[in-house]
Amino acid sequence: MNYNITCIPGDGIGPEIVAAAKKVLVKTANTYGHHFEFKDILMGGASIDVHGIPLTDEAIADAKAADAVLMGSIGGDTNTSPWYKLEPSKRPEAGLLKIRKELGLFANLRPALLYSELSDACVLKKETSDAGFDLIIVRELTGGLYFGERKTITENGVRKAVDTLTYDENEIRRVAVKAFEIAKKRRKKVTSVDKANVLDSSRLWRAVVNEVAADYPDITVEHMLVDNCAMQLVKDPAQFDVILTENMFGDILSDEASMITGSIGMLASASLNETKFGLYEPSHGSAPDIAGKDIANPIATILSAAMMLRFSLDLSKEADAIEAAVKKALKDGYRTGDIYTEGTTKVGCSQMGDIICDNI
Ligand code: NAD
Repeated sequence: MNYNITCIPGDGIGPEIVAAAKKVLVKTANTYGHHFEFKDILMGGASIDVHGIPLTDEAIADAKAADAVLMGSIGGDTNTSPWYKLEPSKRPEAGLLKIRKELGLFANLRPALLYSELSDACVLKKETSDAGFDLIIVRELTGGLYFGERKTITENGVRKAVDTLTYDENEIRRVAVKAFEIAKKRRKKVTSVDKANVLDSSRLWRAVVNEVAADYPDITVEHMLVDNCAMQLVKDPAQFDVILTENMFGDILSDEASMITGSIGMLASASLNETKFGLYEPSHGSAPDIAGKDIANPIATILSAAMMLRFSLDLSKEADAIEAAVKKALKDGYRTGDIYTEGTTKVGCSQMGDIICDNI
């Protein structure tokens, strides 16, 4: 089959890690009889340098025309880069917010997986890291507190700020359906996280999740309060399969889940819309401190590409092959600098891409 993939190399290490991921995709296509047609677009600082804005309408049209979008990372050093002297709506990150909005990406998926080969990097107790974990957080991305009405006023000489947290049942239902569909392909358990003992929006969240659950009798659903979930993630992460939650809780919990793996260069992510379309990117930023040195870890981007095959292109077997190739590279002792430990073999970004290609 032929597929069109729009790529956003972006800034910093972005072009290096996307180049490594493209190599792996080409090898996968050749092995399994597919063809990936790549088209690069500019976003972030790279677009500002050429067009004066972080994302053009033409670039958005190219992204919309593709079967999926694969991104590196955007942004520069926020203290020194001239991009951050521009007004906020013209800075690199404005491009990311715009593309998410234009593509209607309302569900953010962040897997947190502890590879046994890297369990030493895990910050949790040894018995917890030895047990391993493999969970995915499905976070609502376009509603809730971050998108509600906000204002700052002064009342009787006292400054007062107001943020509004709103969810309607349709916003909850569509992201819940995504979570249950993902659970179907995994270990068939959804933990829905809310604050239903306090918030009305959480009580509606819980009711709608239960309605959706009725359509998925094979999937176990449980509800957990967000404060308890934050504790359980460090105490016993192996209990989780799919965590479903609203925007702000997901923002915080997904960073916590990333951190307990101990290796930011390994963590993939996806943002999906109503259809199968999605934007796939590593969880980390553009790492300007190591850009252009061929030392970045490309694995988060390569695993994001695997997610793209699984969720947007329905190529599960091919996604499995990439994930197995990454695991083999780690098992064979190859490490980029960020995950290097004594006794392993240090390799660069491009070489890591080649090793993973050879394993497919
Ligand atoms: P960062 O994730 O870029 O870097 C944090 C630290 O992790 C750095 O020491 C970096 O060298 C290291 N690191 C990150 N990815 C790595 C990799 N693949 N291999 C090896 N080491 C890696 O976070 P930051 O420094 O806070 O942000 C830098 C820029 O990235 C900023 O402009 C920020 O706005 C942007 N950013 C973009 C995105 C995105 O595009 N979605 C996300 C987060 C940050």
